Amino acid sequence: MRYIMFDMEWNYAPSPECVVVRPVPLKGEIIEIGAVMLDENLAEVGTFKSYVRPKYYKRLQKRISLLTGITKEQLDGAPRFGEVFSSFIEWCGEDACLFTWGSDDMQMLRDNMSFFKLDEAMLPPHYDLQVIYSYETSGEYAQHSLHAALENYGIEEELEAHDALNDAIYTARVARKLDMKRGLEEYASHLPLWMSHRPMDVRQWGFYEDKHQAVHSSRTCSARCPECGEALEPLRWIPGGENRKVACTSCRVHGRFFYRMFLHGMGTRGWWVKKETYRMDSQLEQYYSEKLGKFKAGSRASRRKHRKENTPV
Ligand SMILES: [Zn+2]
Repeated sequence: MRYIMFDMEWNYAPSPECVVVRPVPLKGEIIEIGAVMLDENLAEVGTFKSYVRPKYYKRLQKRISLLTGITKEQLDGAPRFGEVFSSFIEWCGEDACLFTWGSDDMQMLRDNMSFFKLDEAMLPPHYDLQVIYSYETSGEYAQHSLHAALENYGIEEELEAHDALNDAIYTARVARKLDMKRGLEEYASHLPLWMSHRPMDVRQWGFYEDKHQAVHSSRTCSARCPECGEALEPLRWIPGGENRKVACTSCRVHGRFFYRMFLHGMGTRGWWVKKETYRMDSQLEQYYSEKLGKFKAGSRASRRKHRKENTPV
């Protein structure tokens, strides 16, 4: 088996009004992929580095060029994402697995793949090394920066940071300090909720004038069983965090389903909505009942406040 440590850099749209939303919103456009290949003993056997010529967000954001040192000239001469991604997958070969530090890079890769209509089945299995590091050093999941991990092991940082290949090299150095065999064996049981659950269906729409309109629209509230297509009881969304809603409903034959809604403000264009469907399981059931409990307590408190304010003295 080959361990591929990889890292990416991406560029953003200059403003929310300029985000390309079809076929799916492209939050960032990948401009560099860097990777290190390790053998079973975690010895380096190869490297991969390529810039990517952006198709939509061509003007490099100042923040990104300052952070990464990437120049317009480097990107102008580079191949497009589809081409770079294909050569990366070919370079990985069979029997490879991917490692990133944190989940952002993988999310950005998946977003770019679905935007450019590349098949996710091409991707080797993926692991977040931060999860393995976190459990090995503290016995629980917490976020640690790559820099903090390097410091923790006293690893020298002589390479320029925020270069995709250098960050991949640093990730490999941290991997060598970890008990990777054990980390991989226990990985599935250590995953945070939203890393262990993948939606069975994702739909997106826009734009809505305001959040209320988005949350109460027939598109966001209607539900069909993903198994049999039967129309289900409409969704009653409850708060699920900042610009997030959750809901559930059930099919008589196929059981319960859990839904998550994300509301993205896109400036003067209004609100963009993403709706995800999950098969309900005990972890999601617990998550939902916590949100429901909070929501009910919140509305009881606001009713009490309302009564108090309207009671004549
Ligand atoms: Zn059904």
